Amino acid sequence: MSSNHCPFCGSDQFTGSVYPRNVFNGKTFDYITCRKCRLIYLSPLPVQEDYEAMYPPAYQDSQVDTCIHPDLYKKLNGLRFSYGFQFDQLRKLAGPQAHILDYGCGAGNFIANAIHQGFTCSGAEFNPFYLTILKEGIPDATFYEINELLEGNPVPLFDVIRLSNVLEHLIAPVDVLGKLKQYLRPGGIFLIEGPVEDNFCLAKK
Ligand SMILES: [Zn+2]
Repeated sequence: MSSNHCPFCGSDQFTGSVYPRNVFNGKTFDYITCRKCRLIYLSPLPVQEDYEAMYPPAYQDSQVDTCIHPDLYKKLNGLRFSYGFQFDQLRKLAGPQAHILDYGCGAGNFIANAIHQGFTCSGAEFNPFYLTILKEGIPDATFYEINELLEGNPVPLFDVIRLSNVLEHLIAPVDVLGKLKQYLRPGGIFLIEGPVEDNFCLAKK
């Protein structure tokens, strides 16, 4: 699909938006508005080399974050819901020992805390070099490269797939969720959070 097809509804009819033009990685990106569903998206959409520039290992300071939070109900910076709230929901909906895949796990802090709470956890990240750091830093979890999951490599089925601050970064969200769904056991759930909870219709401005 070309950049100027809406990643949500596929329409090629678009207009401008209020957001300013961005220059990144030597390219110019404009935010445009789909005339059909009103989704605002980037044109052109970022490609592999842009992601590599966006998320180098230094993005996470090349470190894992295994800090166990004493107060799980304290809301952490950048999250809409505390870990405690998320763990409670997961226990209720998927059981106390659910196997969670944290897709786009960043520095692994959710994973470290989830394991501490008795969950089984796996993570997926984009950068292969950073994955080796995660594997060393959190040996109790299994880590996958995002591309190997999207290419359909066989992995165990998960009870929960979590996407925290991830969905809004995907250039093909319907495809990615469809592929990830294959890794959910029957009845498994997605836990999705990010700047989407106040705007549950993803196509709404
Ligand atoms: Zn659209």
